[in-house]
Amino acid sequence: MQDHRMTNIARLRDFVTAMTDVVNRHGDDEAATLAAGRDLLGDLIGTDDWLPDQFAKPSTEGYRQYLLYCDPRERFSVVSFVWGPGQRTPVHDHCVWGMVGVMRGAERCEEYGNPVRGEAFGKTGEHRIEPGGIDLVSPDIGDVHVVSNALDDRPSISIHVYGGNIGAVRRHVFDADSGEPREFISGYHNDVIPNLWDRSAES
Ligand code: FE
Repeated sequence: MQDHRMTNIARLRDFVTAMTDVVNRHGDDEAATLAAGRDLLGDLIGTDDWLPDQFAKPSTEGYRQYLLYCDPRERFSVVSFVWGPGQRTPVHDHCVWGMVGVMRGAERCEEYGNPVRGEAFGKTGEHRIEPGGIDLVSPDIGDVHVVSNALDDRPSISIHVYGGNIGAVRRHVFDADSGEPREFISGYHNDVIPNLWDRSAES
């Protein structure tokens, strides 16, 4: 049997179902989607009993992004991010809305303003996200940041939800000295996603 049978995968299934209702109902209304989605994500990360181990594995090669679910119309995706000690993202944007919810460990978020080509730019703020904490990003509310593990002795894990199939979105990393963007498509580190639909272990 799969290891997800050992976890409460129904929690992720219920999230996906409720998040589908949110995007059905709120369509292109980003603020309404984020307000409702934030509550749902808070519930999901509030109990750390559902993420199968294979999507919680750090790598010495760098932080991991494991796709957990993608809406069939690619209106949203759910991804587990796993940072080993000392690991961090480059300065990057998303080009869609995103919610970052810390579930295990702690993360550091450094916010950047909008880069201008040919101009150096620095961070405008920095804060730590503890388990249960959620950060929001989007081109409208601030889209450029660096996320890193705030702990130096163990991995940290956050669950991210984005307004698109984030691994396929053409977006940017930035050189902070020049403001120069470089296009990238992140992809994912997993080839298979969790089975949400085996209900045989449920009472
Ligand atoms: Fe990000």
